[in-house]
Amino acid sequence: MNSRLPLSRPILTQTHRPLLSIVVPAYNEIDVMPLCLARLRRVLDTLPMSYEIVVVDDGSTDGTGDLLAAWAVTASDLKVVRLARNFGKEAALTAGLGHADGAAAIALDADLQDPPERIPEMVRAWESGADVVAMRRRSREGESWAKRTSAHLFYRLLNRLSDIHIPPDTGDFRLLSRRALIAMAELPERNRYMKGLFAWIGLPTTTLYYDRAARAAGHSKWNYARLAGLAFEGITSFSIRPLRWSIGAGLAAAAFGAAYGLYIVVKTTLLGEAVAGYPSLMAVITLLGGVQLLTLGVLGEYVGKAYIEAKQRPLYQVRDVVRRSASEEMTSPAQTGSP
Ligand code: UDP
Ligand code: MG
Repeated sequence: MNSRLPLSRPILTQTHRPLLSIVVPAYNEIDVMPLCLARLRRVLDTLPMSYEIVVVDDGSTDGTGDLLAAWAVTASDLKVVRLARNFGKEAALTAGLGHADGAAAIALDADLQDPPERIPEMVRAWESGADVVAMRRRSREGESWAKRTSAHLFYRLLNRLSDIHIPPDTGDFRLLSRRALIAMAELPERNRYMKGLFAWIGLPTTTLYYDRAARAAGHSKWNYARLAGLAFEGITSFSIRPLRWSIGAGLAAAAFGAAYGLYIVVKTTLLGEAVAGYPSLMAVITLLGGVQLLTLGVLGEYVGKAYIEAKQRPLYQVRDVVRRSASEEMTSPAQTGSP
């Protein structure tokens, strides 16, 4: 289990005000980081609680990590977890949640697409008893019609397939209580489809609606190939129904083959056969070849997943953690994040 999430961690600060952690994964976000921290602090300073901002530098190559580390040395509210390389958002977020010391943690994108101004409302929902406060998108500004439609269709498909209900249009922007953080840390899988994992843990959940803003600066790390990969990942992580479809497709093809064979036998016995039918033969062979390869591919996906899980590699490697602290040293040595 995650050595970063011991149950005994102090969740109260010296002032005995509950600590709130804001977890921000950042990959090449140098343009937006100053704006992000300024807007966060403006909101957080109004809350009757102490806070820490945990930024995970996911192996940025544009100097985001160094800039953040320099700030963290002087800013007492900032903790910077620098990963050893780019591990992807899901791993970065897992690392950040694992390093959050708060009684609750809020995951938030660095690009300000998730409005920090909604944090007080999320905190209030948590204080009224919710372990998870999920933020559901009502609109998506600055995203193309094609992206919105494909996201919408994907969520519908995912829910038809998966065995648990994964709420549509609900991303990683959410609040997790310490109990929910511990539940997340106990999930051992390496294939981390976060939206699905958040749904899997259950716990009392409040859903709030928000309007997703356009990116404040910089550009999205996503492209359609990556999005399609994530969609496939989501489906195969939470459903084995594609395997059943393969069986269905195999059965249908076999039934068709048997019926067609019978028809040929009858036809040949009654009418004789002048050798013909090359085109239909080729059509059947290519069709069956295609179905077989597709089925093998689906099977391979699941075998591959089992292989990745079996290796038991950590989810991420931490290069260092930079924070200002009077009693502790400035940077702590590298750690690995096992889930
Ligand atoms: N991100 C990350 N590692 C990556 C890609 C993205 O930590 O490999 C972060 C990124 O810095 C941002 C968040 O994940 O804070 C969402 O990424 P992005 O805005 O590119 O995705 P989109 O909002 O377009 O889906
Ligand atoms: Mg974004």
